Amino acid sequence: MGAVPELPEVEALAGFLRERLVGRVVARVDAVSVAALKTFDPPPTALAGLTVTGVSRHGKFLDIDVDGLHLVTHLARAGWIRWREQLPTAPVRPSGRNPLALRVHLDDGSGFDLTEAGTRKKLAVYVVRDAAEVPGVARLGPDPLVSSFDVAALASILQAHGRTQLKGLLRDQSVVAGIGNAYSDEVLHVARLSPFKLADSLSDEDVAVLHAAIVETLGDAVERSRGLPAKELKDDKRAGMRVHGRAGQPCPVCGDLVREVSFADSSLQYCATCQTGGKPLADRRMSRLLK
Ligand SMILES: [Zn+2]
Repeated sequence: MGAVPELPEVEALAGFLRERLVGRVVARVDAVSVAALKTFDPPPTALAGLTVTGVSRHGKFLDIDVDGLHLVTHLARAGWIRWREQLPTAPVRPSGRNPLALRVHLDDGSGFDLTEAGTRKKLAVYVVRDAAEVPGVARLGPDPLVSSFDVAALASILQAHGRTQLKGLLRDQSVVAGIGNAYSDEVLHVARLSPFKLADSLSDEDVAVLHAAIVETLGDAVERSRGLPAKELKDDKRAGMRVHGRAGQPCPVCGDLVREVSFADSSLQYCATCQTGGKPLADRRMSRLLK
């Protein structure tokens, strides 16, 4: 719960890796998991001998620029990056139980592992010549932290998706990039808006409030996680949540209990007093089952 890296955590990871990778030469790449690697041309071994020139983020995707070739990854629920000052040099044997998907060795003996815990196998790794060759990157909507994402831009997005509920809209990567299940709960709580409210039912004032909530919530989370070691980012994200993953605990604003309701393939958390005029949201999946 709350552990999927979203915009702030991927931004922090990009910063963490940028400091350690840029200027270093890739010595060797061990591609261990066939399931994780989504591309075959160029092969991961093509990165060897090239210098890392930049690390950036597209939505929830991490992009390591290795002199014009891009190692792009989407960590999903159980994927993570583990930085090692000293990587073992022995070849890695692929095995079903090994969480290691890809290992990148640098010229000074340091490097990092891309790992995936569990059996869901959602971690995705791409080696491409342009990040836009990754379908998930090509589909991304505007990044909420760039200056062109202003109130007017959000207003036109809401109008274009009028019959969509705010919760679903915010976590749709093709609408706004980088917000997932956790930060959409947080943003709506800050904005005091119901997750089930329809996009075209917002007043001009609501739109401005929602815009400020998106920019402030993500901006604050980016600030908080900046400079944290990669291994601390998930715990820090969880600790920073107001309502997400906190069903049954008191709302930090009003003290009412945080509630939970099913939504799409998961569940969302919200405060009825702050967001829905005190009225609990009906759990549609449950009521359908009871009919
Ligand atoms: Zn509240």
